[in-house]
Amino acid sequence: MTTLFISDLHLEESRPDITGAFLMFLKTEAPGAEQLYILGDFFEAWIGDDERTPLQEQVAAALRELSESGTRIFLMHGNRDFLLGEDFCARAGATLLDDPTHIDLYGTPTLLMHGDSLCTADVEYQKFRANMRNPQTQKLILARPLKDRQQMARQLREMSMATNQGKAEAIMDVTPEEVVRVMEAHDVPQLIHGHTHRPAEHSLEVNGKLSKRIVLGDWDENVWWLAAKPGHPPELKKTPLSSV
Ligand code: MN
Repeated sequence: MTTLFISDLHLEESRPDITGAFLMFLKTEAPGAEQLYILGDFFEAWIGDDERTPLQEQVAAALRELSESGTRIFLMHGNRDFLLGEDFCARAGATLLDDPTHIDLYGTPTLLMHGDSLCTADVEYQKFRANMRNPQTQKLILARPLKDRQQMARQLREMSMATNQGKAEAIMDVTPEEVVRVMEAHDVPQLIHGHTHRPAEHSLEVNGKLSKRIVLGDWDENVWWLAAKPGHPPELKKTPLSSV
């Protein structure tokens, strides 16, 4: 019995090496897993399920094959692919998850998040996030022609790159107090998230108990995943992208 967690693959046409590594991961690591959780920023950009690029269709078909073999697949939105919807999930045989989602990971209550909502020091981003997660805003965006949305996505990426360059390292990471607040509110001794591209395991105290925050890694130089089995602490694993 294994449950796998990945995030921040940032799949895009310009990185066929990452897509290739993911398709290989689905053939080598994922078969036989009970569950595969993809915790956001699976795609570098998402402007609506109606775009249906060859890359998206290839990834959906590969996920569907895994799903049909018996692995349950769960997808959570990231800050890049928050418009990913039920149509894509249906094609991929996946279930869309709320952020945060509370699961029982082989007896350990565990909170799953993308992680961007924990970066509360980035006030400017949190305002943008609140606006973009508003169902009314999303409805208005999705009603626009595909060409307009593609143009908008390009502009957003350029803006985000320009503003993030000037931001301090600490602002781009999670706010420790916010992590404790969220974990205490959900009363969980374990949190798994991505987003920051700082893969690590952190110990902390939550409601007086020794607790753990596991940060998944982004797929770039390395391929990262977390493997959980009953009776063992979850294990963060990596392999060089070039070796896949
Ligand atoms: Mn992210």
